[in-house]
Amino acid sequence: TCTFSPNAIIDDGCVSYATLDRLNVKVKPAIDELVQTTDFFSHYRLNLFNKKCPFWNDEDGMCGNIACAVETLDNEEDIPEIWRAHELSKLEGPRAKHPGKQEQRQNPERPLQGELGEDVGESCVVEYDDECDDRDYCVWDDEGATSKGDYISLLRNPERFTGYGGQSAKQVWDAIYSENCFKKSSFPKSADLGVSHRPTEAAALDFKQVLDTAGRQAQLEQQRQSNPNIPFVANTGYEVDDECLEKRVFYRVVSGMHASISVHLCWDFLNQSTGEWQPNLDCYESRLHKFPDRISNLYFNYALVTRAIAKLGPYVLSPQYTFCTGDPLQDQETRDKIAAVTKHAASVPQIFDESVMFVNGEGPSLKEDFRNRFRNISRVMDCVGCDKCRLWGKIQTSGYGTALKILFEFNEGQKPPPLKRTELVALFNTYARLSSSVAAVGRFRAMIDMRDKMA
Ligand code: FAD
Repeated sequence: TCTFSPNAIIDDGCVSYATLDRLNVKVKPAIDELVQTTDFFSHYRLNLFNKKCPFWNDEDGMCGNIACAVETLDNEEDIPEIWRAHELSKLEGPRAKHPGKQEQRQNPERPLQGELGEDVGESCVVEYDDECDDRDYCVWDDEGATSKGDYISLLRNPERFTGYGGQSAKQVWDAIYSENCFKKSSFPKSADLGVSHRPTEAAALDFKQVLDTAGRQAQLEQQRQSNPNIPFVANTGYEVDDECLEKRVFYRVVSGMHASISVHLCWDFLNQSTGEWQPNLDCYESRLHKFPDRISNLYFNYALVTRAIAKLGPYVLSPQYTFCTGDPLQDQETRDKIAAVTKHAASVPQIFDESVMFVNGEGPSLKEDFRNRFRNISRVMDCVGCDKCRLWGKIQTSGYGTALKILFEFNEGQKPPPLKRTELVALFNTYARLSSSVAAVGRFRAMIDMRDKMA
């Protein structure tokens, strides 16, 4: 009964920041181990350089700082075996080719796109053609057969301060938040502002109303605890507000992703006078500490992705997912490291209740809209004028897209959700990013406490 519903603010008496902080103490070493020591999860392949921004001319917005650059792996021998095997798997031969989408649709005997069929001799995590599946929340063209893409070591290209900013970054964030204007929005401001380029401040203002309502709700809850006669309706959260649940969740995911990126750039900041990479407390205070809603949205995302990973847990360990190392020992090691992460993610009660979404009111009709808007965000990532920011922006958008797909397109008890390798890698790396953001927020808070005590 005490789950962290998508309605809830974190400190609602059920799942608190402290609960998630405690969980993260266990999760962080396990997820770091997975993404830092396995070839499978520490490399990503995507088309980072050859795609134009589909929404505006972005030529003036390119970041020339060295910190914005991404180092790609250009020599075959630098690419881990498993990723080379991916290339091999595209060759026709004894391995079965996945049938194209069209063929699958026409032939009901064939499995749906992306699912492994009985007669498919595919030994790796599902690889299918580069078209989107109807259930995808992201544009999956990065690993497409038509554009080869680049191999990137994520360890050699950490997400951190790059100096990217100004009008280009602002335009991207504005465009991302503008996706929050659902067609049937009941937000008074959305209709006036239109779909494109809705100013971020306006979105923040709208959200402030939501938070104010949440504050009232929290007060009510406190009163209810001292007076049990006050009725409490589970999962109503901010329902007194006129904005529907799905739209609030959409906003929180985007704002939580933005907050996580800000935490990383403040934590791994370049002190330009000493040349040292170090935490920058002023950066944290001005971008995050003064905005509790942003921190709340970061924890919200942590809870959401934790739930997705816990839900995926039993399936990702099934023999249907393999890791293409060609070496059973390495395969088993990767599997064990995933198991350590999923075990912790599942060790808390279900902390995010996705079952209340897309069910009531206009909810069911919003699902496709929700998915399309998320896909648009993944397209907007091609407009980010800093290679490294684009790399991590794409990985994290894909990670959230995969988490949403697991939460909303897959019911427990079914066959494993068909996931591509890039989806799995993005999901676990996004979890790792969130985990280090949550840890960094704790350390920044401790720095503030210490400073205030000494003052
Ligand atoms: P911005 O962070 O650009 O924010 C713009 C406006 O959005 C703010 O004025 C505020 O009104 C609102 N806002 C800010 N945070 C939130 C939130 N959490 N929720 C709701 N509203 C909010 N820079 C790096 O140094 N390293 C990176 O890895 C990096 N990755 C990026 C990835 C993407 C996809 C993008 C678009 C930008 C990235 N940047 C990165 C740039 C960085 O995010 C900032 O845009 C830049 O540092 C300028 O910051 P700012 O203070 O002007 O505010």
